[in-house]
Amino acid sequence: MGSIKRSTFQHYEYYKSLHAPGNNMSLCTATATATWGKNKETARIVIIGAGASGIAAATRLLEQGFRNVLLLEAEDRIGGRIHTIPFADNVIDLGAQWCHGEQGNVVYQRVKDLDLLEKRGEPAMHFFRSNQEALAEDQVKALRNFMDSSGTLTDADYEGSVGDYLTHKYWQSFPAMERTVAKEALDCIKKMICSYDACDHLFELSPQNHLTFAECEGDPNLNWRDKGYKQFLRVLMAVPDDQPEDLGVLRGHVLLNKRIAEINWQGADELTIRCWNGEIITADHVICTVSLGVLQEQHKQLFVPALPAAKVRAIDGLRLGTVDKFLLEFSEQPMPEKMLSFNCLWLEADLRELRGTDNFWLEGICGFHRVAHQPRLIEGWIIGAHARHMETLKGEKVLEGLLWLFRKFLPFDVPPPKRFLRTQWHSHPNFRGSYSFQPTYADELRTGRWDLESPLADVSGRPRLQFAGEASSRTHFSTVHGATETGWREADRLNEFYAARA
Ligand SMILES: Cc1cc2nc3c(=O)[nH]c(=O)nc-3n(C[C@H](O)[C@H](O)[C@H](O)COP(=O)(O)OP(=O)(O)OC[C@H]3O[C@@H](n4cnc5c(N)ncnc54)[C@H](O)[C@@H]3O)c2cc1C
Repeated sequence: MGSIKRSTFQHYEYYKSLHAPGNNMSLCTATATATWGKNKETARIVIIGAGASGIAAATRLLEQGFRNVLLLEAEDRIGGRIHTIPFADNVIDLGAQWCHGEQGNVVYQRVKDLDLLEKRGEPAMHFFRSNQEALAEDQVKALRNFMDSSGTLTDADYEGSVGDYLTHKYWQSFPAMERTVAKEALDCIKKMICSYDACDHLFELSPQNHLTFAECEGDPNLNWRDKGYKQFLRVLMAVPDDQPEDLGVLRGHVLLNKRIAEINWQGADELTIRCWNGEIITADHVICTVSLGVLQEQHKQLFVPALPAAKVRAIDGLRLGTVDKFLLEFSEQPMPEKMLSFNCLWLEADLRELRGTDNFWLEGICGFHRVAHQPRLIEGWIIGAHARHMETLKGEKVLEGLLWLFRKFLPFDVPPPKRFLRTQWHSHPNFRGSYSFQPTYADELRTGRWDLESPLADVSGRPRLQFAGEASSRTHFSTVHGATETGWREADRLNEFYAARA
């Protein structure tokens, strides 16, 4: 650990030496490309945020021959919304967990020959009503068929929200069970789709989320065995197998605990970055990868001068939704052997009663499932406003609520777990949410991810302030492969700029 810190400092010192008096680089002006005297050796690039996109950008830039690449991260760890921690029999992921698909998925493509990912396919589903009744197999099959055939909006001309579309389709194609149960099931399906898209409810979800997202063919839920999603970052950074906590090629290029308070991009010369501790760092290019939630909360203070109107419209128009996890470790698995997952259907009367109690937030829970390579674990999911409320409660209170829910819905006993964790992605100041979606509000503003992506360049086209991160991906938003692609996109943008001038 010590040696990592020392070399970080050495690289940082080198980075700072480029600002020494007399260094001709500081004389450059950026008003015209012809006067821009920097090259890949001397250009100073600062990347804000060491999540998947920041790490992808930094490793790509170093590969391309850039030397002065500095990653500034607010947390005391790298990874961002990839957060793998030791738990129960090996590790758990508090954020990204699965590699979604194979074809066209840069994560899969990067690791496919390394035997790191495992296929498990879609787990069989079980649905319990709040009177502990289980849905019959044919009912479950019908629900699954509906989700597979109509869970994604494909009509490019559809006017309305995904909620409108889905509700209409459901009642049109789904009279296969008694109406009361069918209605309970629709509510449950809606919550499941909300958890994939991160919206609070489907009536705020723009069809664009489904129309523009490019699904990667292949297994949608490849797991990282007992290593967690962090393994992908290790591959990107070329971390030696025997030193899993090393930073690999990024050794000396990362500063942790460096929360950025202000990025001054005034004028046409260097940009000035002010850290929360007052430290000033200057750069020729800044790639900002902080989450959409952080941008929404902070862009007015973070950027001086203010960002252009189109960028602000995108930041205000898009949304970072809340999806949280519960992780319960038991002495032994309490779910029956053949059961891999279950979802909850609320009887109308029970839901009405629940809403009058302190446990009202339990309504936002979508379901629970086992975790591959963690035989004693149950993982649960909660979405939207209920998740945000859950985040404000004490851990014991949350667990108490979950145990009450298990008793209410399940025809088998679930004892108190040995250990319990829940995530709080929305409350966390460096994230402010889980992953992004396009609400119908953004359609109304005629804005989208393209406005978030566009770099702020000088008059000659030199990129100065660039944006990466999952929310800026046009086709793979809300995923790690999308975040990775955006980091590479911005590295390539700089590479092309310098290649054209070599
Ligand atoms: C619960 C959950 C489950 C998910 N499941 C999956 C999944 O199974 N598969 C999948 O592909 N994706 C999944 N995702 C989405 C995936 O995790 C994200 O899309 C991806 O990790 C985002 O990477 P990023 O680099 O864009 O942003 P981030 O990972 O958020 O990185 C941004 C970094 O910026 C830092 N930062 C913020 N503010 C500042 C500041 N002021 N100064 C300096 N640094 C700052 C943050 O600390 C962070 O490290 C999941 C996400 C969550 C939350």
